[in-house]
Amino acid sequence: MTFKDFNLKPELLRRLEEIGFEKPSPIQEKAIPVILEGRDVVAQAQTGTGKTAAFGLPILSKMKKGEKALVITPTRELAIQVSEEIFRFGKYLGTHTATVYGGSSYARQIKHIENSEFIVATPGRLLDLLKSGRIDIAPNYVILDEADEMLDMGFLDDIKEIFKFVPSDRQTLLFSATMPEPIKNLAKTILKDPEFITITKKQVTNENITENFYVIDEYERKDALIRLIDYKNPSKSIVFCRTKKDVDDIADFLSGAGFEAKGLHGDMDQRKREEVIRAFKNDRLEILVATDVAARGLDVNNVTHVFNYHLPLDPESYVHRIGRTGRAGKEGMAISLVTPHEFRALSRIQKISKIVLKEIPSLEDVKDKEIQKILEKITNVEPTKKAIEIIEELQNEYDLMTIATKLATMMFAKDADGKEKIGKSVKEAKRLIERDRNSGGRDRRNSRNSRGGFRGRRSGGRRRG
Ligand code: AMP
Repeated sequence: MTFKDFNLKPELLRRLEEIGFEKPSPIQEKAIPVILEGRDVVAQAQTGTGKTAAFGLPILSKMKKGEKALVITPTRELAIQVSEEIFRFGKYLGTHTATVYGGSSYARQIKHIENSEFIVATPGRLLDLLKSGRIDIAPNYVILDEADEMLDMGFLDDIKEIFKFVPSDRQTLLFSATMPEPIKNLAKTILKDPEFITITKKQVTNENITENFYVIDEYERKDALIRLIDYKNPSKSIVFCRTKKDVDDIADFLSGAGFEAKGLHGDMDQRKREEVIRAFKNDRLEILVATDVAARGLDVNNVTHVFNYHLPLDPESYVHRIGRTGRAGKEGMAISLVTPHEFRALSRIQKISKIVLKEIPSLEDVKDKEIQKILEKITNVEPTKKAIEIIEELQNEYDLMTIATKLATMMFAKDADGKEKIGKSVKEAKRLIERDRNSGGRDRRNSRNSRGGFRGRRSGGRRRG
């Protein structure tokens, strides 16, 4: 299939050839004909699938003189990107685009809006302009881009209000990477008999890596880490932390618990850093505790487990971190600790990974597993001559039962301990995640704000994956 198979304006086809778009992407193949027909569309697709062209091309193609399109995006960065992409496509149509977001001058934006066919806006600023009557637009096409992200950022009410200002006689398109309940409900109220299009999830993380996450409370982080290390028994692992202070703290904590663990961060002098890296490479260290920055460029093979003591804030760091394991065709495991305050970062990571919710093993589980291992060892071991001599010698003093018990006690020397239960059950975690999504992160934000110091909902830019 080529772009010529769609009934697009010649000015667009010429431009696509010029910028090197040869084959439509899957979302484009599905969405372009439906949008050209004039249908409303709900499309489940994420960044990087070519969704901007999927709605931009058919709308540019259909647009008659005097018509306007309005694109609503969650962040300023995305607004700029979408605007630039549309402008690029519209070169031979003479398309003008206006980008509207908070923090920039009203006067300039208002002028652009009046003169542009395509308006790309973030919800907050757009609503300000509409409510204050500074702009009066009647878009024929309205596109919600990354709707789930807008929900996560707490923009749902603003979106609903924006729709009070746009004519009901319009074509509406909704793009979203995921379809939580509030987005489905929104779709029902703002779209008319939409066509649903789903593009299967593009997964960027490695197939060889098993990815799990565990929902805990903040005060449980250390206990959870030790419990998971006890249970998984990694031979070589990296624990990622956010700050240098955490690195020192966790490295000390793990050493104190009897593991061969050392920290790596930017404040250490070069010689010390190299020493730690060499020890880790040569298997003299079991656990390396590091910040993202310190681990940059670290090239170590046979890492069996990566632990995210804190979840990284952006999906790119996540992909980068867990890529330290599962190399060269080997199996790897990535384990992330997540508190409810990290649900937003989690939802972004879920979009590009196959991370699965699990429950932290109980103390009993760890002990059962240890017993299992010892039983296996005993089953598989071949008795040596020396062992037989020792048992014969011991039998002069003890009966066989006593001897066996004493030997097993020796093998069991390092016993796991800690609380019986750590973290949330799968059921409870699911409930918390669901509630967070449905409230648009309101609970999370409120508790942040009440503790002070956390950024408000509109100040945060987001990097696109
Ligand atoms: P998007 O998902 O809209 O952010 O697009 C991701 C990137 O893919 C952008 O840089 C687009 O310019 C590019 N792109 C979109 N569609 C195509 C296509 N059919 N052929 C080549 N590149 C494309």
